Amino acid sequence: MIYLYRPPSSYCNFCLFKRICCTFVTMSFQSEIVAWYLKNKRDLPWRGITDPYVIWLSEIILQQTRVEQGMPYFLKFLENFPHVRDFANAPEERVLKLWQGLGYYSRGRNMLHTARHVVSNYGGIFPSSYNELVKLKGIGNYTAAAISSFSSNESRAVVDGNVYRVLARYFGIEEPINSNAGIKQFANLAQELIADQQPSIYNQAIMEFGALQCKPKSPNCGVCPLQTTCYAYKNNKIDQLPIKLKKVKIRKRWFNYFVGITDGEILAKQRQPGDVWQHLYDFPLIETQEETPIVNAEFLLEIEKLFGKGLELRVLESRKHVLTHQIIYVQFFAIDNYIVNFNQHTDIKSVKIEAFKQLPHPKIIGDFIEKHID
Ligand code: SF4
Repeated sequence: MIYLYRPPSSYCNFCLFKRICCTFVTMSFQSEIVAWYLKNKRDLPWRGITDPYVIWLSEIILQQTRVEQGMPYFLKFLENFPHVRDFANAPEERVLKLWQGLGYYSRGRNMLHTARHVVSNYGGIFPSSYNELVKLKGIGNYTAAAISSFSSNESRAVVDGNVYRVLARYFGIEEPINSNAGIKQFANLAQELIADQQPSIYNQAIMEFGALQCKPKSPNCGVCPLQTTCYAYKNNKIDQLPIKLKKVKIRKRWFNYFVGITDGEILAKQRQPGDVWQHLYDFPLIETQEETPIVNAEFLLEIEKLFGKGLELRVLESRKHVLTHQIIYVQFFAIDNYIVNFNQHTDIKSVKIEAFKQLPHPKIIGDFIEKHID
């Protein structure tokens, strides 16, 4: 067994001289991860694909999304837009409709922007180099590293949540993964580890290892090939690593939606920039500072300003919708005998119910339509 020592550039918890890295340990880490991957990888539709456009589709769709949830969306987008030109030619409403239910709708809008940019500025040939990819809207370091390494074997290390977890636990890194120092430290270590490796295979291997083996809760340490050299396992720190700084405060909001249907038409509103669900369609809305009972005089006055005094009102349903930094408490009211001054409230439209159903909606509105509107 030969141990080779390198200058103190890397992190190692197996050496008496902390921060002096034992090359043997890192070499064994990489080869064990790759060997594990070749044996255990999932058979996923984007696996082995080298077309940067298709990799981009899968990577953006899978951001903040579980594989099982994202897979049908990936297949749907690929079927509808087999080439980046098809994507670029689509109207925004079609893209948002296909995206409906996936959340984080800015991803869909950014994709459309990027597809059009690639057609206009790259002749429809999706870039595959890291330096070109990071210039595109919606593509950050992680996505650029993933696309460039999977499509053209560029030696760029991916660092996603799975990679943070594996590295923090195995190497015993206690720097928070969302601090500036932590981001830099993990990025440097990941880049060191990918050197001399097959970038495409190694990147996929470490991400898959984090997703299936070194899972956030109850990792499979009992059958882990890295068990004997894993810092967290040896020091009983699996539950403590990785460390993440506390999240920003969650904002609570109360949305009161008014569902008005007359003569086969429904009142609709397109959401504007600067808030959640930009450009999607919902119903006329009054946002309040707390849950407002139907008998609240101030609330009734607001409603009358929108729909006139003869209005009849009843609560249809209440729901809670959780987003990353917001919890939205939603009440749906059915309204009858309403009058809307469309000249004054230009954001409200009366549209045929069937046409309204075809528009892109936030998931909570889509679910409501499915349940309540024939
Ligand atoms: S031993 Fe456990 S904590 Fe360590 S790398 Fe393996 S699965 Fe992760």
